[in-house]
Amino acid sequence: MNDEPIMATNDDASECKRGAVQLGYWQDNYISLFVKQIQRKAPEIHRGYYARVKGVEGFVHKFLKKVGDRAQIVNLGSGFDTLYWRLKDDGVRIANFIEIDFPSVTAKKCYIIKRNKQLLDKIYEQDGEVKLSATDLHAGTYHCIGADLRNIKELEAKFQQAEIDFTSPTLFIAECVLVYVENDCINRLLSWIASKFKSALLINYEMCNMNDTFGDVMLGNLRARGCTLAGIAACKNLESQRNRFLDNNWQGGKAWDMVQIYYALPTPERQRIEKLEFLDEQELLIQLFQHYCICIGWLGSEFEDIDINDP
Ligand code: SAM
Repeated sequence: MNDEPIMATNDDASECKRGAVQLGYWQDNYISLFVKQIQRKAPEIHRGYYARVKGVEGFVHKFLKKVGDRAQIVNLGSGFDTLYWRLKDDGVRIANFIEIDFPSVTAKKCYIIKRNKQLLDKIYEQDGEVKLSATDLHAGTYHCIGADLRNIKELEAKFQQAEIDFTSPTLFIAECVLVYVENDCINRLLSWIASKFKSALLINYEMCNMNDTFGDVMLGNLRARGCTLAGIAACKNLESQRNRFLDNNWQGGKAWDMVQIYYALPTPERQRIEKLEFLDEQELLIQLFQHYCICIGWLGSEFEDIDINDP
């Protein structure tokens, strides 16, 4: 199986994020350390990334508010995500933070971390000694590990090296990842998590409502770049996204399309970013938002009241 085009989606996401950060959509002091190139995209793409990053971040904070510094975070298909460092800057303490991606991607991430004092210092600050291999980095409470999400055995062994605690409340993040993974593998992963953890929340950002012409064009573009969209079946609609959790023994699930997520973001912030670039086609932005969603699934009743409109 050729996973190269799937790994390359990380370059694309990181470059788009860097471009949006440069234009002032949100603050990220670290993304420029991971990616030197900037992709100047259309304004609707920048707004899409803004809604994605702020939407996911909103649920991260709702989780943290509930569990405090007992929190463990597992970022699935983390790419060059900078959440660990951004949380550190906000003074948030996390009991254990684990990032997972294909070994070729984590090798690049580890190499960049190793060469940047700004990144390393934040790890040393709390975690003391850093142990590095070509693809993995282990410190006291930060771990970046190379593993294939489709291989539960490998994942389990790597989680052990990362000193995962099955009894801690754990946040799983999958930001634009699951669509690239075969459905039966995702089902296996979700069932495995449900069998191991008592208290967990999973935040999943990905496509939805793909059964129309606009969806066909989006999928065509991705396939033209060589991406196999093995997990697309679950992206049919919000209900299929929710059901995936229930079918794999999770306690519950909720899902919102990105129109709902975008309009639930704080109004002053939304007004601020809407002034950054002139948007020609409002209609196109809404169509894009209708084809992406954030869904959450939970294990443990403490998370069932999490919603988009909470403060
Ligand atoms: N989550 C990051 C973000 O939003 O910036 C990266 C998103 S990128 C679109 C998708 C990421 O998922 C890539 O880094 C890719 O390598 C990773 N990925 C996809 N399938 C995977 C698998 N089976 N095992 C590990 N990582 C995977």
